[in-house]
Amino acid sequence: MQVQEKRVVVLGAGIAGHTAAMFLRRRLPRNWEVRVVSPNAHYNWIPSNIWVGVGLLPARKVLVPLEPIYRRTRIAFTQARATEIHPEGGRGHEKPYVVVQPVAPGSDGQAVEIEYDYLVNATGPKLNFGATPGLGPEGHSLSVCTAQHAEHAAAEFRKALDRLAHGERLTFVVGTGHGQCTCEGAAFEYVFNVEFEIRKRGLRDRARIVYLTNEAELGDFGVGGLNLEVAGYVVPSRIFTESLFVERGVEWVLGAHVQRVEQGRVYWEDLQGEEFYLDFDFAMLLPPFRGADLRAFDRHGADITSKLFAPSGFMKVDADYTPKPYEEWSPRDWPSTYQNPDYPNVFAVGIAFAPPHPITPPRANPKGTPISPAPPRTGMPSAIMGRAVAESIADMVRGRSARPTHRASLAELGAACVASAGYNPFTGSAAAMTMYPIVPDYEKYPVTGRSKRDTFGEIGSAGHWIKIVLHHMFLYKARALPGWWLIPE
Ligand SMILES: Cc1cc2nc3c(=O)[nH]c(=O)nc-3n(C[C@H](O)[C@H](O)[C@H](O)COP(=O)(O)OP(=O)(O)OC[C@H]3O[C@@H](n4cnc5c(N)ncnc54)[C@H](O)[C@@H]3O)c2cc1C
Repeated sequence: MQVQEKRVVVLGAGIAGHTAAMFLRRRLPRNWEVRVVSPNAHYNWIPSNIWVGVGLLPARKVLVPLEPIYRRTRIAFTQARATEIHPEGGRGHEKPYVVVQPVAPGSDGQAVEIEYDYLVNATGPKLNFGATPGLGPEGHSLSVCTAQHAEHAAAEFRKALDRLAHGERLTFVVGTGHGQCTCEGAAFEYVFNVEFEIRKRGLRDRARIVYLTNEAELGDFGVGGLNLEVAGYVVPSRIFTESLFVERGVEWVLGAHVQRVEQGRVYWEDLQGEEFYLDFDFAMLLPPFRGADLRAFDRHGADITSKLFAPSGFMKVDADYTPKPYEEWSPRDWPSTYQNPDYPNVFAVGIAFAPPHPITPPRANPKGTPISPAPPRTGMPSAIMGRAVAESIADMVRGRSARPTHRASLAELGAACVASAGYNPFTGSAAAMTMYPIVPDYEKYPVTGRSKRDTFGEIGSAGHWIKIVLHHMFLYKARALPGWWLIPE
């Protein structure tokens, strides 16, 4: 008797999706296919793009070709961009299916329909440069969000260094390119590296460096700031970050919503509603994120996108999305299984899930422009979610449970932000911040909302070495080399 093949489809081969696919393959029976659909031929260890963006690493050092790994590990791979989800089947399909647009060289570009028994949406962010006129590598600013963007930024940075070396005075702007950006930690780390590289060459006195951010205070990082234990004292992340900037002569602009970027000039309005501009020679400004803009249809072909997705394009999961005032939100509103409430065989992990509410208090200026960071979903939690969902699906497939068995709430997970400058283990240094939990819990941790023991900051070489070790460890794991599953997420 032929055993009917069943299939889990994972959309996206980034930190969350690649982790989910590898654990699914390890845990699922052989007659289950694990199929990854992703438009990129490579996995990108995005945190190290920062080093690519200042020319310390070539892009190939942060990219891993997926096809050989998937061939070796018996994971099926379709190089394509998913565009539609049909969670009830229809159009000749008994089973649910996704529509994908192949992008591999040589493919005819014809849409392909792939049926699934379980679906993991790990499509990460859509880099929404279009939200700000002139923002991004196709406009007038740079980005380090992909390895290619980072390589382009490095080439421009080299040119700027040459100009400094020839005696010119230049302005460098690094930060967020929209009032509702997230990932401030990445901009913070990049500005550190830019400053470090300029200083290393003895050119610092010719460079004005400005950190332009949508945060109302330095050190907010989209998590409402932290109270860090530093050398036995509790220090607000605002003081920690300001002191780092003061020490390095980095200026900062707070509460900025970038309105547009023109050749060599950035315009913004601030939380008071005032408008400004700054002329620059080099600008790396992060884009806001939105979901991958997948559309969903029921079995009759009716559009049910708003049932599966929040207006931000991120997928709804087991969070409490009831609209309520900021003060009434609770850590329990955050999802923990990442299962879609309407379609229990659909999950969303990493950046792809819709957060229930902001962590930083929402702010708007008198004109009504919202200016406050969106909640971050960093690498470590994204990988942990990917693994948790893989384990849950495996338990459900094996009949151990009808419900997800593994949980990974951001209200119960920690995160680390290591702003590490310089790749060299002997000359580099880092400002490292660790927090637990990511979503503050004032019932469990009165006053600060986070564990004092597990929320700390450190400046020096230790964080820098950890960052280098993590770079190698996670790339080893991504390559699925022997014992990869022993490396924690
Ligand atoms: C510059 C930078 C530095 C960072 N540094 C750190 C750090 O130091 N520490 C940290 O913890 N986090 C860091 N982060 C955040 C971290 O990179 C993210 O949390 C993490 O990548 C999220 O994982 P993900 O799988 O959700 O998304 P991604 O890793 O972005 O993966 C998304 C995947 O989905 C694919 N995809 C997109 N659209 C589709 C589609 N329609 N169909 C199918 N596939 C699709 C993409 O090609 C990609 O493979 C940084 C982020 C940036 C931008």
